[in-house]
Amino acid sequence: MIHRAGRRKSRIIAVCYLVAALYAVAPINFASSAGEPSAEPQPQYDVVVLNGRVIDPESRLDAIRNIGISNGKIQAISQKSLRGRTTVNATGLVVSPGFIDLHSHGQDQENYRFKAMDGVTTALELEVGVGDAEKWYAEREGKALINYGASIGHIPARITVMHDPGTFLPSGDGAHKAASESELQELKRRIEQGLKQGALGVGFGINYTEAASHWEILEMFRVAAKYRAPCFVHMRFAGLKEPANSIRGLEEILSATAITGAPLHVVHISSSGLRAAPLLLQMIGEAQSRGLDVTTECYPYTATQTNIESAIYDDGWKEALGIDYKDLQWVLTGERLTAESFARYRKTGGSVIGHAIPEEIARLSVASPLTMIASDGLLQNGKGHPRASGSYARVLGRYVRELKALTLMDALRKMTLMPARRLEQIAPMMKNKGRIRIGADADLTIFNPALVIDKSTFEEPAQYSEGIAHVLVGGVFVVKDSKPQADVNPGRAIRGAR
Ligand SMILES: [Zn+2]
Repeated sequence: MIHRAGRRKSRIIAVCYLVAALYAVAPINFASSAGEPSAEPQPQYDVVVLNGRVIDPESRLDAIRNIGISNGKIQAISQKSLRGRTTVNATGLVVSPGFIDLHSHGQDQENYRFKAMDGVTTALELEVGVGDAEKWYAEREGKALINYGASIGHIPARITVMHDPGTFLPSGDGAHKAASESELQELKRRIEQGLKQGALGVGFGINYTEAASHWEILEMFRVAAKYRAPCFVHMRFAGLKEPANSIRGLEEILSATAITGAPLHVVHISSSGLRAAPLLLQMIGEAQSRGLDVTTECYPYTATQTNIESAIYDDGWKEALGIDYKDLQWVLTGERLTAESFARYRKTGGSVIGHAIPEEIARLSVASPLTMIASDGLLQNGKGHPRASGSYARVLGRYVRELKALTLMDALRKMTLMPARRLEQIAPMMKNKGRIRIGADADLTIFNPALVIDKSTFEEPAQYSEGIAHVLVGGVFVVKDSKPQADVNPGRAIRGAR
Protein backbone atom coordinates (compact mmCIF):
# COMPACT_ATOMS: atom_id res chain seq x y z
CA MET A 1 0.00 0.00 0.00
CA ILE A 2 2.68 2.46 1.00
CA HIS A 3 4.65 1.60 -2.11
CA ARG A 4 1.69 2.16 -4.45
CA ALA A 5 0.76 5.45 -2.79
CA GLY A 6 4.35 6.59 -3.14
CA ARG A 7 4.41 5.77 -6.86
CA ARG A 8 1.18 7.61 -7.48
CA LYS A 9 2.53 10.63 -5.65
CA SER A 10 5.72 10.68 -7.70
CA ARG A 11 3.69 10.38 -10.93
CA ILE A 12 1.60 13.40 -9.89
CA ILE A 13 4.78 15.34 -9.11
CA ALA A 14 6.21 14.42 -12.54
CA VAL A 15 3.07 15.71 -14.27
CA CYS A 16 3.23 18.92 -12.28
CA TYR A 17 6.83 19.46 -13.37
CA LEU A 18 5.82 18.92 -17.00
CA VAL A 19 2.99 21.44 -16.76
CA ALA A 20 5.29 23.90 -15.05
CA ALA A 21 7.93 23.44 -17.75
CA LEU A 22 5.39 24.01 -20.56
CA TYR A 23 4.04 27.05 -18.79
CA ALA A 24 7.53 28.50 -18.42
CA VAL A 25 8.41 28.30 -22.13
CA ALA A 26 4.92 29.09 -23.46
CA PRO A 27 5.23 32.89 -23.86
CA ILE A 28 8.44 32.56 -25.89
CA ASN A 29 6.88 29.98 -28.25
CA PHE A 30 3.91 32.21 -28.89
CA ALA A 31 6.16 35.17 -29.67
CA SER A 32 8.14 33.14 -32.23
CA SER A 33 5.06 31.74 -33.94
CA ALA A 34 3.69 35.27 -34.35
CA GLY A 35 6.68 36.04 -36.55
CA GLU A 36 8.26 38.56 -34.18
CA PRO A 37 12.03 38.54 -33.80
CA SER A 38 12.70 35.66 -31.43
CA ALA A 39 13.88 37.09 -28.15
CA GLU A 40 16.79 35.50 -26.30
CA PRO A 41 15.04 32.84 -24.19
CA GLN A 42 14.96 34.46 -20.80
CA PRO A 43 14.78 32.50 -17.61
CA GLN A 44 11.84 33.25 -15.44
CA TYR A 45 12.70 33.51 -11.77
CA ASP A 46 10.45 33.20 -8.75
CA VAL A 47 11.70 36.53 -7.42
CA VAL A 48 13.97 39.18 -8.90
CA VAL A 49 15.56 42.03 -6.97
CA LEU A 50 16.34 44.86 -9.37
CA ASN A 51 18.93 47.65 -9.20
CA GLY A 52 20.04 47.06 -5.64
CA ARG A 53 23.50 47.86 -4.31
CA VAL A 54 24.62 44.28 -3.79
CA ILE A 55 27.24 43.87 -1.08
CA ASP A 56 28.88 40.48 -0.63
CA PRO A 57 31.64 40.34 2.00
CA GLU A 58 33.11 37.12 0.59
CA SER A 59 33.80 38.36 -2.96
CA ARG A 60 33.86 42.01 -1.81
CA LEU A 61 31.37 42.83 -4.56
CA ASP A 62 29.81 46.25 -3.91
CA ALA A 63 27.96 47.24 -7.08
CA ILE A 64 24.52 47.67 -8.62
CA ARG A 65 23.24 44.26 -9.68
CA ASN A 66 20.03 42.37 -10.36
CA ILE A 67 19.45 39.12 -8.50
CA GLY A 68 17.32 36.21 -9.69
CA ILE A 69 15.96 33.70 -7.19
CA SER A 70 14.26 30.36 -7.81
CA ASN A 71 13.70 27.32 -5.64
CA GLY A 72 15.04 29.14 -2.61
CA LYS A 73 18.48 29.72 -4.16
CA ILE A 74 20.27 32.62 -5.80
CA GLN A 75 20.30 31.68 -9.50
CA ALA A 76 21.61 34.88 -11.13
CA ILE A 77 23.61 37.98 -10.19
CA SER A 78 23.59 40.14 -13.25
CA GLN A 79 23.94 43.60 -14.73
CA LYS A 80 21.26 42.57 -17.25
CA SER A 81 17.61 42.97 -16.43
CA LEU A 82 15.90 39.82 -15.15
CA ARG A 83 12.27 38.79 -15.19
CA GLY A 84 10.52 37.23 -12.23
CA ARG A 85 7.03 36.39 -11.08
CA THR A 86 7.66 38.78 -8.17
CA THR A 87 9.81 41.85 -8.66
CA VAL A 88 11.36 44.06 -6.01
CA ASN A 89 12.70 47.46 -6.99
CA ALA A 90 15.77 47.90 -4.77
CA THR A 91 16.94 51.22 -6.20
CA GLY A 92 18.74 53.09 -3.41
CA LEU A 93 18.75 50.01 -1.18
CA VAL A 94 21.55 47.69 -0.08
CA VAL A 95 21.10 43.98 -0.79
CA SER A 96 23.05 41.97 1.78
CA PRO A 97 23.20 38.33 2.76
CA GLY A 98 20.67 37.81 5.57
CA PHE A 99 22.10 38.43 9.03
CA ILE A 100 23.12 35.42 11.13
CA ASP A 101 22.77 35.83 14.90
CA LEU A 102 24.83 33.28 16.84
CA HIS A 103 23.43 34.38 20.18
CA SER A 104 19.67 34.61 20.24
CA HIS A 105 17.90 33.33 23.35
CA GLY A 106 14.47 34.28 22.01
CA GLN A 107 13.40 31.21 20.07
CA ASP A 108 9.68 31.66 19.46
CA GLN A 109 7.57 33.43 16.86
CA GLU A 110 7.44 36.70 18.82
CA ASN A 111 11.23 36.88 18.84
CA TYR A 112 11.61 35.62 15.26
CA ARG A 113 9.32 38.41 14.05
CA PHE A 114 11.39 41.10 15.76
CA LYS A 115 14.60 39.46 14.49
CA ALA A 116 13.29 39.44 10.91
CA MET A 117 12.37 43.13 11.18
CA ASP A 118 15.99 43.73 12.29
CA GLY A 119 17.28 41.89 9.19
CA VAL A 120 18.08 38.54 10.81
CA THR A 121 17.37 35.41 8.74
CA THR A 122 19.07 32.87 11.03
CA ALA A 123 18.84 33.06 14.85
CA LEU A 124 20.74 30.52 16.91
CA GLU A 125 20.75 29.72 20.63
CA LEU A 126 24.40 28.79 21.14
CA GLU A 127 25.47 30.25 24.49
CA VAL A 128 22.99 28.73 26.95
CA GLY A 129 21.91 26.11 24.43
CA VAL A 130 19.25 23.49 25.07
CA GLY A 131 18.93 20.33 27.15
CA ASP A 132 17.21 18.08 24.61
CA ALA A 133 18.28 18.88 21.07
CA GLU A 134 16.03 16.34 19.37
CA LYS A 135 12.90 17.66 21.06
CA TRP A 136 13.89 21.30 20.58
CA TYR A 137 14.38 20.93 16.82
CA ALA A 138 11.19 18.86 16.44
CA GLU A 139 9.13 21.60 18.13
CA ARG A 140 10.14 24.14 15.46
CA GLU A 141 10.00 22.02 12.33
CA GLY A 142 7.87 23.81 9.73
CA LYS A 143 6.73 26.40 12.25
CA ALA A 144 9.51 29.01 12.21
CA LEU A 145 9.58 32.37 10.43
CA ILE A 146 13.40 32.33 10.18
CA ASN A 147 16.13 29.69 10.38
CA TYR A 148 16.87 28.33 13.84
CA GLY A 149 19.35 26.12 15.63
CA ALA A 150 20.92 25.43 19.03
CA SER A 151 23.89 24.02 20.86
CA ILE A 152 23.65 21.38 23.54
CA GLY A 153 24.07 23.31 26.76
CA HIS A 154 26.23 22.65 29.80
CA ILE A 155 23.89 24.94 31.81
CA PRO A 156 20.65 23.01 31.05
CA ALA A 157 22.51 19.73 31.57
CA ARG A 158 23.67 20.94 34.99
CA ILE A 159 20.15 22.22 35.87
CA THR A 160 18.78 18.71 35.21
CA VAL A 161 21.58 16.67 36.72
CA MET A 162 21.78 18.84 39.87
CA HIS A 163 17.95 19.14 40.21
CA ASP A 164 18.17 22.94 40.11
CA PRO A 165 14.85 24.86 40.31
CA GLY A 166 15.83 27.15 37.40
CA THR A 167 14.31 26.80 33.94
CA PHE A 168 16.78 28.92 31.92
CA LEU A 169 19.60 29.82 34.32
CA PRO A 170 20.43 28.00 37.55
CA SER A 171 19.93 29.50 41.01
CA GLY A 172 20.46 26.46 43.24
CA ASP A 173 22.77 23.46 43.04
CA GLY A 174 23.17 23.89 39.29
CA ALA A 175 25.13 27.03 40.07
CA HIS A 176 26.59 26.32 43.48
CA LYS A 177 27.35 22.60 43.85
CA ALA A 178 30.44 20.82 42.62
CA ALA A 179 29.73 17.74 40.49
CA SER A 180 30.44 14.28 41.90
CA GLU A 181 32.21 11.79 39.66
CA SER A 182 28.90 10.18 38.65
CA GLU A 183 27.32 13.58 37.98
CA LEU A 184 30.30 14.49 35.83
CA GLN A 185 29.82 11.32 33.80
CA GLU A 186 26.12 12.12 33.38
CA LEU A 187 26.92 15.66 32.19
CA LYS A 188 29.34 14.25 29.60
CA ARG A 189 26.77 11.72 28.45
CA ARG A 190 24.15 14.42 27.91
CA ILE A 191 26.56 16.67 25.98
CA GLU A 192 27.62 13.79 23.75
CA GLN A 193 24.01 12.78 23.10
CA GLY A 194 23.15 16.34 22.05
CA LEU A 195 26.06 16.45 19.61
CA LYS A 196 24.98 13.11 18.13
CA GLN A 197 21.52 14.62 17.62
CA GLY A 198 22.90 17.48 15.54
CA ALA A 199 23.39 20.26 18.06
CA LEU A 200 25.65 23.00 16.68
CA GLY A 201 28.25 22.85 19.43
CA VAL A 202 28.40 23.02 23.22
CA GLY A 203 27.09 26.04 25.11
CA PHE A 204 28.58 27.26 28.40
CA GLY A 205 27.85 29.97 30.95
CA ILE A 206 30.64 29.32 33.37
CA ASN A 207 29.89 32.50 35.33
CA TYR A 208 26.41 31.07 36.00
CA THR A 209 27.75 27.67 37.09
CA GLU A 210 30.50 28.94 39.35
CA ALA A 211 30.84 25.61 41.19
CA ALA A 212 31.77 23.84 37.94
CA SER A 213 35.44 23.02 38.47
CA HIS A 214 38.18 23.79 35.97
CA TRP A 215 38.42 20.03 35.42
CA GLU A 216 34.68 19.79 34.72
CA ILE A 217 35.00 22.48 32.03
CA LEU A 218 37.98 20.64 30.51
CA GLU A 219 36.01 17.41 30.46
CA MET A 220 33.15 19.11 28.55
CA PHE A 221 35.65 20.56 26.06
CA ARG A 222 37.05 17.05 25.54
CA VAL A 223 33.60 15.79 24.53
CA ALA A 224 33.23 18.75 22.14
CA ALA A 225 36.67 18.09 20.64
CA LYS A 226 35.73 14.49 19.86
CA TYR A 227 33.03 15.88 17.51
CA ARG A 228 35.04 18.94 16.39
CA ALA A 229 32.18 20.93 17.89
CA PRO A 230 32.76 24.58 18.80
CA CYS A 231 32.31 25.65 22.42
CA PHE A 232 30.27 28.87 22.82
CA VAL A 233 31.33 30.26 26.16
CA HIS A 234 30.23 32.96 28.56
CA MET A 235 33.47 32.96 30.52
CA ARG A 236 33.95 32.78 34.25
CA PHE A 237 34.26 36.20 35.99
CA ALA A 238 33.92 39.69 34.51
CA GLY A 239 35.74 43.00 34.40
CA LEU A 240 39.25 44.03 35.40
CA LYS A 241 39.44 43.61 39.16
CA GLU A 242 42.09 41.07 40.18
CA PRO A 243 42.29 38.25 40.88
CA ALA A 244 38.93 36.79 39.77
CA ASN A 245 38.67 38.85 36.59
CA SER A 246 37.85 38.30 32.93
CA ILE A 247 41.51 37.93 31.94
CA ARG A 248 41.67 34.83 34.12
CA GLY A 249 38.29 33.73 32.76
CA LEU A 250 39.58 33.96 29.20
CA GLU A 251 42.82 32.19 30.13
CA GLU A 252 40.80 29.24 31.39
CA ILE A 253 38.94 28.69 28.13
CA LEU A 254 41.87 29.48 25.83
CA SER A 255 43.78 26.84 27.78
CA ALA A 256 40.90 24.39 27.40
CA THR A 257 40.99 24.94 23.63
CA ALA A 258 44.77 24.55 23.46
CA ILE A 259 44.64 21.37 25.55
CA THR A 260 41.65 19.66 23.92
CA GLY A 261 41.52 21.07 20.39
CA ALA A 262 37.83 22.05 20.62
CA PRO A 263 37.17 25.31 18.71
CA LEU A 264 36.21 28.24 20.96
CA HIS A 265 33.77 31.10 20.46
CA VAL A 266 33.84 33.67 23.27
CA VAL A 267 30.44 35.31 23.64
CA HIS A 268 29.77 39.01 24.34
CA ILE A 269 33.36 40.16 24.81
CA SER A 270 32.30 43.67 25.87
CA SER A 271 29.94 42.64 28.66
CA SER A 272 32.33 39.99 30.02
CA GLY A 273 35.37 42.21 29.70
CA LEU A 274 33.88 45.61 30.54
CA ARG A 275 36.99 47.85 30.83
CA ALA A 276 39.18 44.78 30.18
CA ALA A 277 37.56 44.19 26.76
CA PRO A 278 40.52 45.70 24.79
CA LEU A 279 42.87 43.36 26.67
CA LEU A 280 40.65 40.34 25.96
CA LEU A 281 40.54 41.26 22.27
CA GLN A 282 44.33 41.47 22.26
CA MET A 283 44.53 38.01 23.89
CA ILE A 284 42.16 36.54 21.29
CA GLY A 285 44.18 38.06 18.44
CA GLU A 286 47.37 36.61 19.90
CA ALA A 287 45.79 33.19 20.37
CA GLN A 288 44.62 33.26 16.73
CA SER A 289 48.10 34.14 15.53
CA ARG A 290 49.40 31.10 17.40
CA GLY A 291 46.97 28.92 15.48
CA LEU A 292 44.12 28.49 17.98
CA ASP A 293 40.63 28.29 16.50
CA VAL A 294 39.05 31.05 18.58
CA THR A 295 36.51 33.71 17.63
CA THR A 296 34.38 36.25 19.47
CA GLU A 297 31.30 38.50 19.26
CA CYS A 298 29.68 41.54 20.85
CA TYR A 299 26.39 43.41 20.95
CA PRO A 300 26.14 47.17 20.34
CA TYR A 301 24.81 48.32 23.73
CA THR A 302 26.08 49.74 27.01
CA ALA A 303 24.02 47.47 29.26
CA THR A 304 23.77 43.79 30.12
CA GLN A 305 20.69 41.74 30.94
CA THR A 306 20.36 38.62 33.04
CA ASN A 307 18.42 37.08 35.90
CA ILE A 308 18.86 38.80 39.25
CA GLU A 309 18.77 35.49 41.16
CA SER A 310 21.66 34.08 39.10
CA ALA A 311 25.24 33.76 40.34
CA ILE A 312 26.18 36.96 38.47
CA TYR A 313 24.59 38.92 41.35
CA ASP A 314 26.11 36.88 44.18
CA ASP A 315 28.09 38.89 46.74
CA GLY A 316 30.91 40.89 45.15
CA TRP A 317 28.95 41.87 42.01
CA LYS A 318 29.38 45.61 42.60
CA GLU A 319 33.16 45.32 42.65
CA ALA A 320 33.30 42.80 39.77
CA LEU A 321 31.02 44.82 37.47
CA GLY A 322 32.06 48.27 38.69
CA ILE A 323 28.44 49.38 39.16
CA ASP A 324 25.95 50.04 41.97
CA TYR A 325 22.23 49.49 42.65
CA LYS A 326 21.22 52.61 40.70
CA ASP A 327 22.79 51.11 37.54
CA LEU A 328 20.35 48.18 37.67
CA GLN A 329 17.00 48.49 35.89
CA TRP A 330 14.12 46.10 36.56
CA VAL A 331 12.87 44.79 33.20
CA LEU A 332 9.17 44.43 34.09
CA THR A 333 8.73 47.99 35.37
CA GLY A 334 11.71 49.97 34.08
CA GLU A 335 12.50 51.16 37.61
CA ARG A 336 16.08 51.67 38.84
CA LEU A 337 16.96 49.58 41.89
CA THR A 338 17.96 50.38 45.45
CA ALA A 339 19.51 48.16 48.14
CA GLU A 340 15.99 47.42 49.35
CA SER A 341 14.41 46.56 45.97
CA PHE A 342 17.51 44.58 44.96
CA ALA A 343 17.13 42.33 48.04
CA ARG A 344 13.41 41.94 47.39
CA TYR A 345 13.73 41.04 43.69
CA ARG A 346 16.66 38.74 44.37
CA LYS A 347 14.18 36.59 46.36
CA THR A 348 11.43 36.57 43.73
CA GLY A 349 13.77 36.35 40.74
CA GLY A 350 13.43 37.95 37.33
CA SER A 351 15.20 39.84 34.61
CA VAL A 352 17.42 42.84 35.31
CA ILE A 353 19.37 45.17 33.05
CA GLY A 354 22.81 46.30 34.21
CA HIS A 355 24.09 49.60 32.82
CA ALA A 356 27.70 48.46 33.08
CA ILE A 357 29.43 48.77 29.71
CA PRO A 358 31.21 52.09 28.97
CA GLU A 359 30.27 53.58 25.58
CA GLU A 360 33.88 53.54 24.34
CA ILE A 361 34.06 49.81 25.15
CA ALA A 362 30.84 49.15 23.21
CA ARG A 363 32.19 51.16 20.26
CA LEU A 364 35.66 49.63 20.09
CA SER A 365 34.18 46.14 20.45
CA VAL A 366 31.78 46.71 17.53
CA ALA A 367 34.60 48.18 15.42
CA SER A 368 37.22 45.49 16.18
CA PRO A 369 38.01 43.28 13.17
CA LEU A 370 37.85 40.29 15.54
CA THR A 371 34.20 40.55 16.59
CA MET A 372 31.03 39.27 15.02
CA ILE A 373 27.74 40.99 15.83
CA ALA A 374 25.45 38.83 17.97
CA SER A 375 22.46 40.09 19.91
CA ASP A 376 22.20 37.99 23.11
CA GLY A 377 18.53 38.97 22.84
CA LEU A 378 15.36 37.71 24.47
CA LEU A 379 11.89 39.25 24.46
CA GLN A 380 9.16 37.82 26.64
CA ASN A 381 5.71 39.28 25.99
CA GLY A 382 7.28 42.47 24.74
CA LYS A 383 9.63 42.86 27.73
CA GLY A 384 13.39 42.50 27.63
CA HIS A 385 16.52 44.25 26.39
CA PRO A 386 16.45 46.36 23.20
CA ARG A 387 19.28 44.19 21.81
CA ALA A 388 16.66 41.52 21.05
CA SER A 389 15.01 43.72 18.42
CA GLY A 390 17.53 46.42 17.48
CA SER A 391 21.11 45.09 17.45
CA TYR A 392 21.65 44.88 13.69
CA ALA A 393 19.94 48.12 12.68
CA ARG A 394 21.78 49.84 15.53
CA VAL A 395 25.19 48.75 14.21
CA LEU A 396 24.27 49.90 10.69
CA GLY A 397 22.59 53.16 11.68
CA ARG A 398 24.50 54.32 14.72
CA TYR A 399 27.97 52.77 14.47
CA VAL A 400 28.38 52.74 10.66
CA ARG A 401 26.39 55.76 9.45
CA GLU A 402 26.42 58.16 12.40
CA LEU A 403 29.66 57.41 14.27
CA LYS A 404 31.63 56.03 11.29
CA ALA A 405 33.22 53.53 13.68
CA LEU A 406 33.48 50.94 10.88
CA THR A 407 32.68 50.58 7.19
CA LEU A 408 29.43 49.16 5.86
CA MET A 409 31.34 46.27 4.24
CA ASP A 410 33.04 45.39 7.54
CA ALA A 411 29.78 45.62 9.47
CA LEU A 412 28.03 43.30 7.03
CA ARG A 413 30.93 40.82 7.18
CA LYS A 414 30.47 40.64 10.97
CA MET A 415 26.75 39.91 10.51
CA THR A 416 26.93 37.39 7.66
CA LEU A 417 30.16 35.78 6.47
CA MET A 418 31.97 35.56 9.82
CA PRO A 419 29.16 33.77 11.69
CA ALA A 420 28.55 31.47 8.70
CA ARG A 421 32.24 30.50 8.67
CA ARG A 422 32.24 29.88 12.42
CA LEU A 423 29.72 27.08 11.88
CA GLU A 424 30.84 25.61 8.56
CA GLN A 425 32.90 22.81 10.04
CA ILE A 426 30.11 21.42 12.20
CA ALA A 427 27.30 22.44 9.83
CA PRO A 428 28.46 22.40 6.17
CA MET A 429 25.06 23.81 5.15
CA MET A 430 26.37 27.17 6.40
CA LYS A 431 28.66 27.33 3.36
CA ASN A 432 25.52 28.37 1.46
CA LYS A 433 24.65 31.16 3.87
CA GLY A 434 26.23 34.53 4.60
CA ARG A 435 27.10 35.07 0.92
CA ILE A 436 25.54 36.45 -2.22
CA ARG A 437 26.74 34.05 -4.89
CA ILE A 438 25.09 31.74 -7.37
CA GLY A 439 23.88 28.61 -5.62
CA ALA A 440 23.76 30.22 -2.18
CA ASP A 441 20.54 30.13 -0.15
CA ALA A 442 18.32 33.10 -0.95
CA ASP A 443 18.43 34.52 2.58
CA LEU A 444 18.63 38.24 1.84
CA THR A 445 18.25 41.47 3.79
CA ILE A 446 17.43 44.56 1.75
CA PHE A 447 17.69 47.85 3.64
CA ASN A 448 17.99 51.59 3.21
CA PRO A 449 21.49 52.58 4.40
CA ALA A 450 20.43 56.22 4.80
CA LEU A 451 17.51 55.38 7.11
CA VAL A 452 18.25 52.09 8.86
CA ILE A 453 18.16 52.55 12.65
CA ASP A 454 17.06 50.77 15.82
CA LYS A 455 13.92 52.09 17.54
CA SER A 456 13.84 49.79 20.58
CA THR A 457 14.80 51.26 23.96
CA PHE A 458 15.38 49.98 27.48
CA GLU A 459 11.91 51.24 28.37
CA GLU A 460 10.23 49.97 25.17
CA PRO A 461 12.23 47.08 23.74
CA ALA A 462 9.43 45.70 21.55
CA GLN A 463 9.93 48.22 18.72
CA TYR A 464 10.71 47.18 15.17
CA SER A 465 13.86 48.56 13.61
CA GLU A 466 13.36 51.04 10.77
CA GLY A 467 14.81 50.98 7.29
CA ILE A 468 14.75 47.21 6.79
CA ALA A 469 12.69 47.09 3.59
CA HIS A 470 12.55 43.42 2.62
CA VAL A 471 13.85 40.19 4.12
CA LEU A 472 13.79 36.82 2.40
CA VAL A 473 14.40 33.42 3.96
CA GLY A 474 14.96 30.68 1.38
CA GLY A 475 13.46 32.96 -1.28
CA VAL A 476 10.27 33.60 0.74
CA PHE A 477 9.44 37.10 1.99
CA VAL A 478 9.28 37.27 5.77
CA VAL A 479 9.40 41.09 5.63
CA LYS A 480 7.99 42.96 2.67
CA ASP A 481 7.75 46.75 2.32
CA SER A 482 8.96 47.00 5.95
CA LYS A 483 6.09 44.86 7.23
CA PRO A 484 6.36 41.40 8.80
CA GLN A 485 4.57 38.78 6.72
CA ALA A 486 1.96 36.55 8.34
CA ASP A 487 1.36 32.86 7.68
CA VAL A 488 4.78 32.07 6.25
CA ASN A 489 7.22 29.73 7.95
CA PRO A 490 10.19 29.26 5.63
CA GLY A 491 12.66 28.90 8.52
CA ARG A 492 14.72 25.71 8.39
CA ALA A 493 16.74 23.88 11.01
CA ILE A 494 20.47 24.57 11.09
CA ARG A 495 21.97 21.33 12.38
CA GLY A 496 25.33 19.74 12.72
CA ALA A 497 26.17 17.04 10.17
CA ARG A 498 26.47 13.83 12.13
ZN1 LIG B 1 25.93 35.48 28.49
